[in-house]
Amino acid sequence: TMALLVLENFIGGKFVPCSSYIDSYNPSTGDVYCRVPDSGKEEVEAAVKAAKDAFPIWSSKSPLERSQILNKLADLIEHDLEEFAQAESKDQGKTITFARMVDIPRAVYNFRFFASSILHHTTECTEMATMGCVHYTSRTPVGVAGLISPWNLPLYLLTWKIAPAIACGNTVVAKPSEMTSVTAWMMCKLLEKAGVPHGVVNVVFGTGAKAGEALVCHPDVPLISFTGSTLTAQRITEKSAPHCKRLSLELGGKNPAIIFDDADLTQCIPTTLRSSFANQGEICLCTSRIFVQRGIYSEFLKRFVAEAKKWKVGNPLDPTVDVGALISKEHLEKVRSYVKKAQAEGARVLCGEGVDSLTLPTGNQKGYFMLPTVIAEVKDESCCMQEEIFGPVTCVVAFDTEEEVIERANSVKYGLAATVWSSNVGRVHRVAQRLQSGLVWTNCWLVRDLNLPFGGMKASGIGREGAKDSYEFFTEVKTITIKH
Ligand code: NAD
Repeated sequence: TMALLVLENFIGGKFVPCSSYIDSYNPSTGDVYCRVPDSGKEEVEAAVKAAKDAFPIWSSKSPLERSQILNKLADLIEHDLEEFAQAESKDQGKTITFARMVDIPRAVYNFRFFASSILHHTTECTEMATMGCVHYTSRTPVGVAGLISPWNLPLYLLTWKIAPAIACGNTVVAKPSEMTSVTAWMMCKLLEKAGVPHGVVNVVFGTGAKAGEALVCHPDVPLISFTGSTLTAQRITEKSAPHCKRLSLELGGKNPAIIFDDADLTQCIPTTLRSSFANQGEICLCTSRIFVQRGIYSEFLKRFVAEAKKWKVGNPLDPTVDVGALISKEHLEKVRSYVKKAQAEGARVLCGEGVDSLTLPTGNQKGYFMLPTVIAEVKDESCCMQEEIFGPVTCVVAFDTEEEVIERANSVKYGLAATVWSSNVGRVHRVAQRLQSGLVWTNCWLVRDLNLPFGGMKASGIGREGAKDSYEFFTEVKTITIKH
């Protein structure tokens, strides 16, 4: 047996061991391969102190100085891209292809993007000539930012927070998911070489209940940027309320795809397969309710299912594999239980779980794998159409009119991302305007411009992230009036 990988917290520029550890599993084998610090109050306290101590110097650097450091860090991660991609795949279960093409390149880009965008903000100024006054706004970093991220896109989502936070001059204490901590730890090893001063980025590993809550409750952490589930966000909101903290909450989704009978199916089918099953369906933006107009319903379903069956499930490190392992045994069981509930309610499972057999390579027999699963004839009230499943399961249902489908698409508690497929420009605009969704993609999916706001409506979140939005979140604004 190989020696276990043992992670350490990164506090004040130093790796420090912890008194207790949590086991971390390789989802594609089911083996424990890593031990993650089980940090609590004490470790969080030390990290917040280090971040506070580093704040005066870091916040007084010019945006250009910070920008150069962020660019250097981006270069260093990019230099080790393959190593990071292998680690992310092993830790999370995602395919090596996805980690190579999406996760790590995006982590690199997050630093480059904010290194650039921080140089281009301007403040507001108004004149009040009759009063002899000018007013202007000034923005300053807030202080120590608490950053909490989930397991589905580990380094990608964590750096989407670290980059804007430090670009704006804050110092941070980050708490990655206890299930996927390895790439954050690897990044810590590059910080000094990039020129990030000690204490600017601190990473405390551990569970949400212990380490996460200690950070949320710490009086010297005035802002929390959180990505994760809606349930956890409610808890964070309650726990931070006594301190009146500024919160950014990026939460779950139950994202609809609306496919009209004039859609270009040669584009729509492959893209909707990706939007349903990419990263094992473990992306907050994944489609899980597919509404297809009656006239093309049978044709769509036939072609969609035939293509879904071609997705290869297996060893994530095999570059020909399309679907890797789910994050944990518990999560796999939860996802499977939704398929069983749908069947019990009379829905039809057209392919995947419980219908087709899954053959796995010898080394992966104990991994948490599941076939892409398509369910039809599900009622809108079913939990499969209302709750976030967060796995490779998608429901396909028919609709008749535009009016009807808008109402049905909006009839869930979430409002994160929607897709609309139609070649009628007028219809695309009308529908996009009326969907309760922070993002609407028409005739495409997951095409992002980081400049523009990202985030959810309703139970999918509060606040937005993006060039301007993250800048505003991570800075305090002041209005100053000068009378001459
Ligand atoms: P989760 O809410 O269980 O955990 C997210 C993070 O919060 C983890 O680091 C966890 O340790 C921590 N945490 C848990 N309890 C906590 C507490 N009481 N106090 C402080 N921190 C706590 O979510 P998950 O299962 O890791 O991630 C999946 C969820 O994330 C899905 O709902 C998905 O839709 C959502 N997500 C949203 C976005 C988005 O941008 N909107 C992106 C990715 C994932």
